[in-house]
Amino acid sequence: MPDSRKSEERGIPVNASLEARLRAHAEQTYPDECVGALLGHGDDVREVLPLENSAADRRTGFALTAREYLRAEAQAETRGLEVLGLYHSHPDAPAVPSARDAAVLRSFRRAVIISVRAGVATEVTVTAS
Ligand SMILES: [Zn+2]
Repeated sequence: MPDSRKSEERGIPVNASLEARLRAHAEQTYPDECVGALLGHGDDVREVLPLENSAADRRTGFALTAREYLRAEAQAETRGLEVLGLYHSHPDAPAVPSARDAAVLRSFRRAVIISVRAGVATEVTVTAS
């Protein structure tokens, strides 16, 4: 798996093909924020799972219902994986976690934020804890 090895060397826990899927999801939901789960093992993200954003204002935030989050956990378990974290997009804003993001994402090992400018995914920020 040259992609994942290269990613590890850069300290980025998402390989190029997964990153391409995250970018595509972020572009599809523009100008709304997208949200999804990062599934994997340990420190290694193996799959991404798009989820339904249930925020009242999806242009400026994301939210998951308990039911949707449980769906992600069930999908992970079916594949022998765990939910390592979440990804979401920032339409026309930098890929920098807001204060609210930081609070929500603190409980996860991995978080990815994709900035989308005028419908095109630009920078991608990955945090690991
Ligand atoms: Zn955010």
